[in-house]
Amino acid sequence: MIGITLPDGSVKQVELGATPMDVAKSISEGFARNVISASFNNTTVEVSTPLTEDGSLVLYTWKQDEGKKAFWHSSAHVLAQALEELYPGIKLTIGPAIDNGFYYDVDFGSQPISEKDLQTIEKKMIDISRGKFEFSLRESSKADALDYYKKQGNEYKVELIENLEDGTITFCDHATFTDLCRGGHIPNTGIIKAVKLLSIAGAYWRGDENNIQLTRIYGISFPKQKELTEYLALLEEAKKRDHRKLGKELELFTFSRRVGQGLPLWLPKGAALRERLENFLKKAQKKAGYETVMTPHIGQKELYVTSGHYEKYGEDSFRPIKTPHEGEEFLLKPMNCPHHCEIYNSKPWSYRDLPKRYAEFGTVYRYEQSGELHGLTRVRGFTQDDAHIFCTPDQLNQEFKDVIDLVLYVFGSLGFEDFHTQVSLRDPEKPEKYIGSLENWEKAENAIINAATEKELEFDIVYGEAAFYGPKLDFMVKDALGRTWQLGTIQVDYNLPERFELTYKGSDNKLHRPIMIHRAPFGSMERFIAILLEHTGGNFPLWLMPEQVSILTLSEKYEKYAKKVLNLLENHEIRALVDDRNETIGRKIRDAEMNKTPYMVIVGEQEEKDGTISVRKHSEGTMGSMSIEAFADYINKEIKKTIKEFNV
Ligand SMILES: [Zn+2]
Ligand SMILES: [Zn+2]
Repeated sequence: MIGITLPDGSVKQVELGATPMDVAKSISEGFARNVISASFNNTTVEVSTPLTEDGSLVLYTWKQDEGKKAFWHSSAHVLAQALEELYPGIKLTIGPAIDNGFYYDVDFGSQPISEKDLQTIEKKMIDISRGKFEFSLRESSKADALDYYKKQGNEYKVELIENLEDGTITFCDHATFTDLCRGGHIPNTGIIKAVKLLSIAGAYWRGDENNIQLTRIYGISFPKQKELTEYLALLEEAKKRDHRKLGKELELFTFSRRVGQGLPLWLPKGAALRERLENFLKKAQKKAGYETVMTPHIGQKELYVTSGHYEKYGEDSFRPIKTPHEGEEFLLKPMNCPHHCEIYNSKPWSYRDLPKRYAEFGTVYRYEQSGELHGLTRVRGFTQDDAHIFCTPDQLNQEFKDVIDLVLYVFGSLGFEDFHTQVSLRDPEKPEKYIGSLENWEKAENAIINAATEKELEFDIVYGEAAFYGPKLDFMVKDALGRTWQLGTIQVDYNLPERFELTYKGSDNKLHRPIMIHRAPFGSMERFIAILLEHTGGNFPLWLMPEQVSILTLSEKYEKYAKKVLNLLENHEIRALVDDRNETIGRKIRDAEMNKTPYMVIVGEQEEKDGTISVRKHSEGTMGSMSIEAFADYINKEIKKTIKEFNV
């Protein structure tokens, strides 16, 4: 007998050679039916692998990420089999599971394939799945493995195997199909009930553009048809909410080839929206004791050599700008921090002056390859809602907690309610990736963990995700479509104060190094607005809407009354506009709906006579007639529901 420890800590005694599936069945038959993959002593195993020693076993179902990974990994095998059967002579390369589904990179040789062939391949995959073929893992010597693929003339697999160590090589067999594979499968193909091949793309072998271009087929699969239907509906919704599409429809921003790729141009409505977001944060920051500073868009190369940014971004970024006569070299600012350090350095400080909190909506520039650019989420110039706090070690904990409060206030006011946090620490295996002393890193890491714990945040600790100059706390927000975005980050930094020789005079009359906190609740204005657009589908919180009310005239006779209504609403600081085009009221309502204007006010003969208005709410319909005053009060109450005052 061997002792198998389960995740709840209980130990099950089972026969030597029992499989993970046997263990699942001994828990309950019902549970076993849902088990699709397993790990033993933290290593992925097949559910059919005999267990030969004591150890800890985790059994996964579709509900867990590990279960999904096995499911999609196995689906990639089925895709490969379908392709081999439909396109004899193709060369398979790699086919991993990804966050949402799987892909396979294939060399089709001269055989043509296009999107219209995907349905046939899907059908073939489902046919194979119905056969309920078991996946089984088989060890192979390196020589045999090489021989197998050399005979097929598959130079890709040969190259992969050449980089593997003898004794670690395994194949996976199912039905008549064999593939080089490390393992981690579902029990059999029969569990795959629904398949959708999503797209075809080009992909260079090993991601290197000097290599041959292969064909990548993306797909996703599910254990139930209903889940696929729901997923496709979600994809459809995501397309509708694509910020690039909405940004155009709502006239928020644009791009111009002439201005340059990755450099967004904010249109009046978008600029007004962004300004409102900035003012919202500035107001809260003022209360929290921040001071506004401003710095230029370029800085001497030496500045970034001092800060370490040149080492990090220099070679792989925009080229330096040289002056014609003085031989000076400037770089586009990749980060605001070095500039703020020099502001701190502009005068001597005593411990009584700290903390200093410098805030700037600072625009920075980072080179991204043109292929990597994406709407507002990947750009070459963007504005951070940046601030740097310089404080004493005694103040670090409180300052960090205050920043957490500010970030939570921002999320609350913008309707991001579902989030978790991640403490990103250095990778202890790769100390060369980070600058600064080990002792300072440990202090900073503990400071973050303590503040997050005291603020009762739910957090995961992730090693290897820290910035090169310090550890950080990241806020991961779930949007309305269930996608996770990293928004808002707070970082502790002992390194820049060292590099810039920042000091303050302590109560002991000696000079000490302050600690620096970097923080940006929005992250970047561009990316934040993109995420907010996709989260809300353009239905921003009322306080942020470009136009809160659209006043629609029934005919030109009521223009004067409409202007009066506009004037009164504006007196209540409500943003409204009059639609007095020579169009039908039906058309005007439709356009206001399209524009996502939260409220429509209709004015005609009756309204003018009674001094009232008829109100409609976006996507909900009529709210009846009311006085202008009552409507203005109602709007202002609604606004106060979503945006509260920030109290320190
Ligand atoms: Zn496999
Ligand atoms: Zn910074």
